[in-house]
Amino acid sequence: MSSEGKKEGASSRKLLVSRLHKSEDTVIRVKGTEFGGESHTMIAGPCSIESHEQLLTVAKALKEAGVEVLRGGAFKPRTSPYDFQGLGEQGLELMKEVADEVGMVTVSEIMIAEQIRKAAPYIDIFQIGARNMQNFELLKAVGRSGKPVLLKRGLSATLEEFVLAAEYIAASGNEQVMLIERGIRTFEKWTRNTLDISAIPILKQETHLPVLVDITHSTGRKDILLPCAKAALAAGAHGIMVEVHPDPPSALSDAKQQINVEEFHTFWQGVRQSGLYNE
Ligand code: PEP
Ligand code: MN
Repeated sequence: MSSEGKKEGASSRKLLVSRLHKSEDTVIRVKGTEFGGESHTMIAGPCSIESHEQLLTVAKALKEAGVEVLRGGAFKPRTSPYDFQGLGEQGLELMKEVADEVGMVTVSEIMIAEQIRKAAPYIDIFQIGARNMQNFELLKAVGRSGKPVLLKRGLSATLEEFVLAAEYIAASGNEQVMLIERGIRTFEKWTRNTLDISAIPILKQETHLPVLVDITHSTGRKDILLPCAKAALAAGAHGIMVEVHPDPPSALSDAKQQINVEEFHTFWQGVRQSGLYNE
């Protein structure tokens, strides 16, 4: 790693995920959809998988709009143990059913190594959530799985910690890792988290991995999704993640921050018209 001002240590090693190891961008291809490189990728879908109807409604609308990647949580990392914890394996079954019917690539979170085996037949990409970014045994296990991984930045993780978390996956035999900035904890209260735009060019400079931005969890606000998506794309992000639910007020998780299908259409039109998004 080349930047100035860095201390000796992990970052002075030639990491597998670093530009020193590989100068060209890594492009991850999943069922004809590309992450990284020249084109952009939109990942959309509900916070949690709740029912067949809920997922099918949103997946159909997204696919018709030209979105190829469907997200949805089955194992949910909730702050309170009394909140909806996700449908688990049943949710993953629904995800596969719907994705097969509509024809989409799927992303879903796994929280413990044991879920890798359960989830593998149902989903295309494993998401490692912010709360597990430094669960090193999980990172090693997902590294051994061979499936592409979408790694979220930890709640208070530095970029060095984020890159080293990705290195755990790569060092375990899996270089199909995408990094996703999802906001970090700061003193600011008007957003759920603080979207760190500078993370995008830095991660792209330091690593060869695709870099995406989750604008929903980083802002927690529906009213600023478009400008934040544009900022992310202008800064070089390879893709955007956004939460879409057919009826957000009734959602079993993140009800306040999810947009409905109509709002998605407006947002998506704005993204496409910005000239910053390559299909
Ligand atoms: C999610 O994407 O469903 C999620 C829980 O996000 P994060 O891990 O970034 O909080
Ligand atoms: Mn959510």
